[in-house]
Amino acid sequence: MKASVILIRCSRNKSVFGARTQQMNDDDWWRTWAFAIDEDRANREGYDLETVKGNLYCTDEYPGCPYCGTKSFVQCNKCGKLTCWNGETILDCQWCGNHMDNIVEASDKFTVSGGDV
Ligand SMILES: [Zn+2]
Ligand SMILES: [Zn+2]
Repeated sequence: MKASVILIRCSRNKSVFGARTQQMNDDDWWRTWAFAIDEDRANREGYDLETVKGNLYCTDEYPGCPYCGTKSFVQCNKCGKLTCWNGETILDCQWCGNHMDNIVEASDKFTVSGGDV
């Protein structure tokens, strides 16, 4: 079974956390755990280079963001990175500052890849 860690930046305090994900089927990934992590350390671990592609669900055990508690996120249409989502219709990407509006719902289908930090 493949496991990976994806990085999400909280919209409340701009801090980064890691979400542990496990691949169940070819296109199905499940988030099982979330943990606060220092951004430098995340880069050293290479978490910013992880790629996850397909559907991304969360298990009942998934605790949500360690800072704001949400289990949802939105993916920036510019840089492709993830920001906590608490139901806002307008939100700035916490990575690149891209202004996202008309957010209807958090997507659970996406490709995340890093590398250009
Ligand atoms: Zn958060
Ligand atoms: Zn962005």
